[in-house]
Amino acid sequence: MYASDLGVDAIIIGTKDSKEADKVVYFLGEDNILRTGIAKSASRSFRRFINSLQPFSFVRIYYTKKSSFVLLRESNLKESFQFVREDPLLVGFGYLVCEVIQKLIRENDIHEGLFTITLNALYQLNSKNTNPLLILAIFIFKIMTIAGYSPSFEICDLCKRRLDKRWVWQLNPQRCVCAVHHLTGTMKWEWDEEILSFLRTLRIAKPDEIWHLGVSDKKLKSLFRNLCLWIEKVTEEELKSYRWLEKMESSKGKSGRVDWFYSLK
Ligand SMILES: [Zn+2]
Repeated sequence: MYASDLGVDAIIIGTKDSKEADKVVYFLGEDNILRTGIAKSASRSFRRFINSLQPFSFVRIYYTKKSSFVLLRESNLKESFQFVREDPLLVGFGYLVCEVIQKLIRENDIHEGLFTITLNALYQLNSKNTNPLLILAIFIFKIMTIAGYSPSFEICDLCKRRLDKRWVWQLNPQRCVCAVHHLTGTMKWEWDEEILSFLRTLRIAKPDEIWHLGVSDKKLKSLFRNLCLWIEKVTEEELKSYRWLEKMESSKGKSGRVDWFYSLK
Protein backbone atom coordinates (compact mmCIF):
# COMPACT_ATOMS: atom_id res chain seq x y z
CA MET A 1 0.00 0.00 0.00
CA TYR A 2 0.97 3.62 -0.50
CA ALA A 3 0.34 6.70 1.62
CA SER A 4 -1.86 8.14 -1.13
CA ASP A 5 -4.18 5.09 -1.17
CA LEU A 6 -7.78 5.66 -0.16
CA GLY A 7 -9.42 3.21 2.26
CA VAL A 8 -13.14 2.56 2.33
CA ASP A 9 -15.51 -0.05 3.78
CA ALA A 10 -17.34 -1.57 0.83
CA ILE A 11 -19.61 -4.33 -0.41
CA ILE A 12 -18.44 -6.28 -3.45
CA ILE A 13 -21.30 -6.11 -5.96
CA GLY A 14 -19.72 -8.17 -8.72
CA THR A 15 -16.54 -9.06 -10.57
CA LYS A 16 -15.57 -10.13 -14.03
CA ASP A 17 -12.33 -11.45 -15.45
CA SER A 18 -10.35 -9.03 -17.54
CA LYS A 19 -7.23 -9.39 -19.67
CA GLU A 20 -4.48 -11.64 -18.30
CA ALA A 21 -5.14 -12.22 -14.60
CA ASP A 22 -6.85 -8.88 -13.89
CA LYS A 23 -10.32 -8.56 -12.44
CA VAL A 24 -12.88 -5.81 -12.91
CA VAL A 25 -14.54 -5.21 -9.51
CA TYR A 26 -17.81 -3.36 -8.85
CA PHE A 27 -17.96 -2.15 -5.25
CA LEU A 28 -20.38 -0.06 -3.24
CA GLY A 29 -18.49 2.12 -0.74
CA GLU A 30 -19.61 3.43 2.65
CA ASP A 31 -19.67 6.85 0.93
CA ASN A 32 -22.76 5.54 -0.95
CA ILE A 33 -20.99 5.48 -4.30
CA LEU A 34 -20.87 2.52 -6.67
CA ARG A 35 -17.50 2.30 -8.41
CA THR A 36 -15.66 0.10 -10.86
CA GLY A 37 -12.07 -0.76 -10.05
CA ILE A 38 -9.34 -2.88 -11.60
CA ALA A 39 -7.60 -5.46 -9.43
CA LYS A 40 -4.31 -6.13 -11.22
CA SER A 41 -3.26 -9.78 -11.21
CA ALA A 42 -6.08 -10.56 -8.76
CA SER A 43 -6.33 -14.14 -9.96
CA ARG A 44 -2.67 -14.70 -9.03
CA SER A 45 -2.36 -12.46 -6.00
CA PHE A 46 -3.78 -14.41 -3.09
CA ARG A 47 -2.12 -12.20 -0.53
CA ARG A 48 -3.60 -8.84 -1.57
CA PHE A 49 -7.16 -9.96 -2.24
CA ILE A 50 -7.46 -13.14 -0.20
CA ASN A 51 -11.06 -14.48 -0.33
CA SER A 52 -12.39 -10.96 -0.45
CA LEU A 53 -13.63 -10.40 -3.99
CA GLN A 54 -16.74 -12.61 -3.98
CA PRO A 55 -20.10 -10.92 -4.58
CA PHE A 56 -21.82 -9.64 -1.42
CA SER A 57 -18.64 -9.79 0.71
CA PHE A 58 -18.21 -6.91 3.14
CA VAL A 59 -14.60 -5.72 2.87
CA ARG A 60 -12.14 -2.93 3.58
CA ILE A 61 -10.80 -1.86 0.22
CA TYR A 62 -7.76 0.29 -0.60
CA TYR A 63 -7.55 2.00 -3.95
CA THR A 64 -5.88 4.78 -5.95
CA LYS A 65 -7.60 7.03 -8.44
CA LYS A 66 -5.79 7.03 -11.75
CA SER A 67 -6.68 9.48 -14.53
CA SER A 68 -9.10 7.15 -16.27
CA PHE A 69 -9.78 4.37 -13.77
CA VAL A 70 -9.69 3.20 -10.14
CA LEU A 71 -6.82 0.86 -9.25
CA LEU A 72 -7.47 -1.52 -6.37
CA ARG A 73 -4.40 -2.10 -4.20
CA GLU A 74 -5.71 -4.49 -1.58
CA SER A 75 -8.85 -5.68 0.16
CA ASN A 76 -9.46 -7.37 3.50
CA LEU A 77 -12.53 -9.42 4.34
CA LYS A 78 -14.64 -8.04 7.21
CA GLU A 79 -17.72 -10.28 6.88
CA SER A 80 -18.34 -13.13 4.45
CA PHE A 81 -22.02 -13.76 5.45
CA GLN A 82 -21.25 -17.41 6.01
CA PHE A 83 -24.83 -18.56 6.74
CA VAL A 84 -25.96 -17.13 3.41
CA ARG A 85 -23.12 -18.89 1.56
CA GLU A 86 -23.91 -22.26 3.15
CA ASP A 87 -27.48 -22.27 1.80
CA PRO A 88 -27.80 -22.39 -2.02
CA LEU A 89 -31.18 -20.70 -1.92
CA LEU A 90 -29.94 -17.83 0.24
CA VAL A 91 -26.97 -17.41 -2.11
CA GLY A 92 -29.60 -16.73 -4.81
CA PHE A 93 -31.04 -13.96 -2.63
CA GLY A 94 -27.52 -12.59 -1.96
CA TYR A 95 -26.88 -12.42 -5.70
CA LEU A 96 -30.26 -10.75 -6.18
CA VAL A 97 -29.18 -7.96 -3.79
CA CYS A 98 -26.07 -7.39 -5.93
CA GLU A 99 -27.92 -7.60 -9.25
CA VAL A 100 -30.51 -5.03 -8.14
CA ILE A 101 -27.71 -2.58 -7.25
CA GLN A 102 -25.84 -3.20 -10.49
CA LYS A 103 -28.95 -2.79 -12.64
CA LEU A 104 -30.44 0.29 -10.97
CA ILE A 105 -27.68 2.40 -9.47
CA ARG A 106 -25.64 4.75 -11.61
CA GLU A 107 -21.92 4.57 -10.99
CA ASN A 108 -20.01 7.43 -9.35
CA ASP A 109 -23.17 9.18 -8.07
CA ILE A 110 -23.95 9.57 -4.36
CA HIS A 111 -27.19 7.88 -3.25
CA GLU A 112 -28.06 8.70 0.37
CA GLY A 113 -28.61 5.60 2.54
CA LEU A 114 -27.64 3.10 -0.16
CA PHE A 115 -24.71 1.47 1.63
CA THR A 116 -26.51 1.06 4.98
CA ILE A 117 -29.60 -0.47 3.37
CA THR A 118 -27.55 -2.91 1.29
CA LEU A 119 -25.31 -3.97 4.18
CA ASN A 120 -28.29 -4.41 6.51
CA ALA A 121 -30.16 -6.49 3.91
CA LEU A 122 -27.17 -8.88 3.89
CA TYR A 123 -27.02 -9.01 7.71
CA GLN A 124 -30.77 -9.69 7.74
CA LEU A 125 -30.36 -12.59 5.28
CA ASN A 126 -27.45 -13.95 7.29
CA SER A 127 -29.41 -13.88 10.59
CA LYS A 128 -32.04 -16.27 9.14
CA ASN A 129 -34.64 -14.68 11.44
CA THR A 130 -36.73 -13.07 8.72
CA ASN A 131 -38.30 -14.49 5.58
CA PRO A 132 -35.92 -13.61 2.69
CA LEU A 133 -38.91 -12.67 0.53
CA LEU A 134 -39.72 -9.90 3.01
CA ILE A 135 -36.08 -8.78 3.23
CA LEU A 136 -35.85 -8.56 -0.56
CA ALA A 137 -39.26 -6.88 -0.91
CA ILE A 138 -38.11 -4.15 1.48
CA PHE A 139 -34.70 -3.90 -0.15
CA ILE A 140 -35.97 -3.78 -3.75
CA PHE A 141 -38.63 -1.20 -2.98
CA LYS A 142 -36.13 1.04 -1.17
CA ILE A 143 -33.57 0.80 -3.99
CA MET A 144 -36.27 1.56 -6.59
CA THR A 145 -37.20 4.62 -4.51
CA ILE A 146 -33.56 5.73 -4.20
CA ALA A 147 -33.09 5.27 -7.96
CA GLY A 148 -36.13 7.49 -8.57
CA TYR A 149 -38.59 4.94 -9.97
CA SER A 150 -41.18 4.79 -7.20
CA PRO A 151 -44.62 6.32 -7.76
CA SER A 152 -46.15 8.10 -4.76
CA PHE A 153 -48.96 5.55 -4.23
CA GLU A 154 -51.25 8.42 -3.24
CA ILE A 155 -53.53 9.35 -6.16
CA CYS A 156 -55.30 7.24 -8.82
CA ASP A 157 -53.66 7.89 -12.20
CA LEU A 158 -57.07 7.84 -13.93
CA CYS A 159 -59.66 9.63 -11.74
CA LYS A 160 -57.21 11.45 -9.40
CA ARG A 161 -59.00 10.22 -6.25
CA ARG A 162 -56.93 9.06 -3.28
CA LEU A 163 -56.09 5.34 -3.49
CA ASP A 164 -57.56 3.29 -0.66
CA LYS A 165 -58.98 -0.18 0.11
CA ARG A 166 -58.90 -1.73 -3.36
CA TRP A 167 -56.38 -0.59 -5.92
CA VAL A 168 -54.38 -1.98 -8.82
CA TRP A 169 -50.68 -1.69 -9.56
CA GLN A 170 -50.17 -2.23 -13.27
CA LEU A 171 -46.78 -2.51 -14.97
CA ASN A 172 -47.83 -2.52 -18.64
CA PRO A 173 -48.62 0.35 -18.97
CA GLN A 174 -47.24 1.56 -15.63
CA ARG A 175 -49.96 3.06 -13.39
CA CYS A 176 -51.59 2.86 -9.96
CA VAL A 177 -55.39 3.12 -10.08
CA CYS A 178 -58.60 2.35 -8.14
CA ALA A 179 -59.76 -1.24 -8.66
CA VAL A 180 -63.10 -0.06 -10.12
CA HIS A 181 -61.64 1.03 -13.43
CA HIS A 182 -61.68 -1.29 -16.41
CA LEU A 183 -58.05 -1.63 -17.48
CA THR A 184 -56.57 -2.67 -20.77
CA GLY A 185 -52.96 -3.91 -20.93
CA THR A 186 -51.23 -6.63 -18.90
CA MET A 187 -49.27 -7.26 -15.68
CA LYS A 188 -51.89 -6.18 -13.11
CA TRP A 189 -51.92 -6.88 -9.37
CA GLU A 190 -54.89 -5.96 -7.23
CA TRP A 191 -53.76 -4.92 -3.74
CA ASP A 192 -55.46 -3.85 -0.52
CA GLU A 193 -54.96 -1.28 2.23
CA GLU A 194 -52.28 -3.32 3.99
CA ILE A 195 -49.91 -3.29 0.99
CA LEU A 196 -50.73 0.35 0.27
CA SER A 197 -49.81 1.37 3.79
CA PHE A 198 -46.67 -0.83 3.73
CA LEU A 199 -45.42 0.80 0.50
CA ARG A 200 -46.28 4.34 1.60
CA THR A 201 -44.48 3.88 4.92
CA LEU A 202 -41.48 2.17 3.37
CA ARG A 203 -41.15 4.90 0.76
CA ILE A 204 -40.43 7.62 3.30
CA ALA A 205 -38.89 5.55 6.15
CA LYS A 206 -35.24 6.11 7.11
CA PRO A 207 -32.79 3.22 6.44
CA ASP A 208 -32.79 2.15 10.12
CA GLU A 209 -36.61 2.16 10.34
CA ILE A 210 -37.38 -0.28 7.54
CA TRP A 211 -36.56 -3.75 8.88
CA HIS A 212 -39.36 -4.02 11.41
CA LEU A 213 -42.01 -3.43 8.71
CA GLY A 214 -43.92 -6.45 7.46
CA VAL A 215 -46.86 -7.79 5.47
CA SER A 216 -49.00 -10.96 5.75
CA ASP A 217 -47.13 -14.07 4.66
CA LYS A 218 -49.79 -15.00 2.14
CA LYS A 219 -49.28 -11.75 0.20
CA LEU A 220 -45.50 -11.82 0.31
CA LYS A 221 -44.82 -14.04 -2.67
CA SER A 222 -47.05 -12.01 -5.03
CA LEU A 223 -45.53 -8.77 -3.75
CA PHE A 224 -42.00 -10.12 -4.29
CA ARG A 225 -42.92 -11.16 -7.85
CA ASN A 226 -44.61 -7.78 -8.51
CA LEU A 227 -41.44 -5.96 -7.39
CA CYS A 228 -39.03 -8.16 -9.39
CA LEU A 229 -41.10 -7.80 -12.56
CA TRP A 230 -41.21 -4.05 -11.94
CA ILE A 231 -37.39 -3.98 -12.16
CA GLU A 232 -37.48 -6.06 -15.35
CA LYS A 233 -40.03 -3.66 -16.85
CA VAL A 234 -38.06 -0.55 -15.92
CA THR A 235 -34.66 -1.91 -17.05
CA GLU A 236 -36.06 -3.92 -19.97
CA GLU A 237 -33.75 -6.76 -18.95
CA GLU A 238 -34.21 -10.09 -17.27
CA LEU A 239 -33.46 -10.13 -13.54
CA LYS A 240 -31.38 -13.30 -13.66
CA SER A 241 -31.21 -14.12 -9.93
CA TYR A 242 -34.99 -13.75 -9.64
CA ARG A 243 -35.51 -16.07 -12.61
CA TRP A 244 -33.16 -18.58 -11.01
CA LEU A 245 -35.11 -18.45 -7.72
CA GLU A 246 -38.35 -19.00 -9.63
CA LYS A 247 -36.82 -22.03 -11.33
CA MET A 248 -35.68 -23.43 -7.97
CA GLU A 249 -39.19 -23.08 -6.64
CA SER A 250 -40.85 -24.75 -9.61
CA SER A 251 -38.49 -27.74 -9.21
CA LYS A 252 -39.36 -28.22 -5.53
CA GLY A 253 -41.73 -31.09 -6.33
CA LYS A 254 -38.90 -33.13 -7.79
CA SER A 255 -36.52 -32.74 -4.87
CA GLY A 256 -39.27 -33.08 -2.26
CA ARG A 257 -37.65 -30.26 -0.32
CA VAL A 258 -39.94 -27.99 1.63
CA ASP A 259 -38.66 -25.11 3.74
CA TRP A 260 -39.68 -21.63 4.79
CA PHE A 261 -39.29 -20.27 1.28
CA TYR A 262 -41.09 -23.01 -0.59
CA SER A 263 -43.88 -23.32 1.96
CA LEU A 264 -45.07 -19.82 1.14
CA LYS A 265 -46.80 -20.91 -2.03
ZN1 LIG B 1 -59.58 6.00 -9.91
